[in-house]
Amino acid sequence: MDGDLTPKDGLPADGMGCHGGASEMDHAARIAGKSEVLDRYAADYPTGPHDKPQSMCPAFGSLRVGLRMRRVATVLSGSACCVYGLTFVSHFYGARRSVGYVPFNSETLVTGKLFEDIRDSVHEMADPEKYDAIVVTNLCVPTASGVPLRLLPDEINGVRIVGIDVPGFGIPTHAEAKDVLAGAMLSYARKEIEAGPVQAPVGGKHDRPTVALLGEMFPADPMIIGQMLAPMGLAAGPVVPCREWRELYAALDCGVAAAIHPFYTAAMREFTTAGRPIVGSAPVGHDGTAEWLRGLGEAFGLPVDKVAASQNAFLPAIKGALAAAPIKGTITLSGYEGSELLVARLLIESGADVPYVGTACARTPQSDCDRDWLEARGVTVKYRASLEDDTAAMEAIRPDLAIGTTPVVQKAKELGVPGLYYTNLVSARPLMGPAGAGSLAQVMNAAMGNKDRMGKMKAFFDGVGAGDTAGVWEGEPNLRPDFRAAHQKKLDKQARAAKAQDMI
Ligand code: SF4
Repeated sequence: MDGDLTPKDGLPADGMGCHGGASEMDHAARIAGKSEVLDRYAADYPTGPHDKPQSMCPAFGSLRVGLRMRRVATVLSGSACCVYGLTFVSHFYGARRSVGYVPFNSETLVTGKLFEDIRDSVHEMADPEKYDAIVVTNLCVPTASGVPLRLLPDEINGVRIVGIDVPGFGIPTHAEAKDVLAGAMLSYARKEIEAGPVQAPVGGKHDRPTVALLGEMFPADPMIIGQMLAPMGLAAGPVVPCREWRELYAALDCGVAAAIHPFYTAAMREFTTAGRPIVGSAPVGHDGTAEWLRGLGEAFGLPVDKVAASQNAFLPAIKGALAAAPIKGTITLSGYEGSELLVARLLIESGADVPYVGTACARTPQSDCDRDWLEARGVTVKYRASLEDDTAAMEAIRPDLAIGTTPVVQKAKELGVPGLYYTNLVSARPLMGPAGAGSLAQVMNAAMGNKDRMGKMKAFFDGVGAGDTAGVWEGEPNLRPDFRAAHQKKLDKQARAAKAQDMI
């Protein structure tokens, strides 16, 4: 790939994407026939003020969902550098599965040969002995060039083919990219159900009505939810994104879908189309659990005593667990997983003071009850929070603990504020019901107890410089403000050109 311009629309075949030119990519994609999908993404994942990835490539979300499914193959179509990064991160997180790749160059991109190459490769891969489905993903450049994955056959030799566009300029976060694939798969499965009988779940159909759970969670959480549902005569259904294809049918067969993570807009649309009501929030802490069980009872039309049976069985235990594991201190919280508001509720019920919660995801109706609960307790909730929002809050509040993404935690540590990585340390714990109630205290209190040590480290590293003067220098750091100014001019010019392009 050489970064040549395509004669068709002036789009460089490589080198664009998340490091610039988002509006140019969007413009090119629309010219190339992708307006419908981009408009749908804009409606599903509203942006603003923060509208571009500040973390990893969004496509990692959908890639990970596909890689976690049994008997599902994943194929990427995109620039080699993007595919390298995505496969690297996949294997870093223990994918232990191959990621398929259909490479391209300027010529195959422009002449349509890339689409033919993709079609040939899915034909070659479509072995029903090995796969239930093959997921093909267009990354930024093929999406911007209009590579028409919708023209792939729906199915080859009984293997389902699911084509999705996951461009960084249309999907704001990797959390929302998970929804793109989950929604596409549910849509496919829903049409299969409408067309005739489908496979039953491996363990057979539940004898009780089920609650499908939207959002990846700690493996023990669905079991705990199942225990809380039992007194109501309900059972926990599959977790979406699912781990195998036939679970999609069981998920759609639920009585109610619970939007534990509230950003699964496309998936929720499929449940709504299938006639399944959606209940927001999650059973976190005392108030969250009480409200969630009540909401489910209402959605199922259950008598109040059934809901009360579960509430009476579990709420005292949750209260006890929260009291036994108090968290004392001021905590700022930010992340891009979509579960930030739930974690903040749990921290507050554990006794922590949480003045700020930032989430990279957008506001949806399903997170309203969590937002209301938090705002009633004086918390500032920021949707589509940028890195700048999160660091500014942390710097202004100077909490006892900053929970956030890598750059926020790094910044906190530079200031001598203890920090915890959201993804590694918070998402890897149970949050629901009695098990979640006491699960955060140990790690939070241990981190806050490190404040003195952070202060000593700050003092130790004092004077080693920061930014481009960091490190040990023989003589003065070689600063070139003139180079920086010239480069800034170039960036400003590019931004002006992009803006002018938008106005055309
Ligand atoms: S596919 Fe991902 S890594 Fe590649 S340009 Fe787009 S957002 Fe960036």
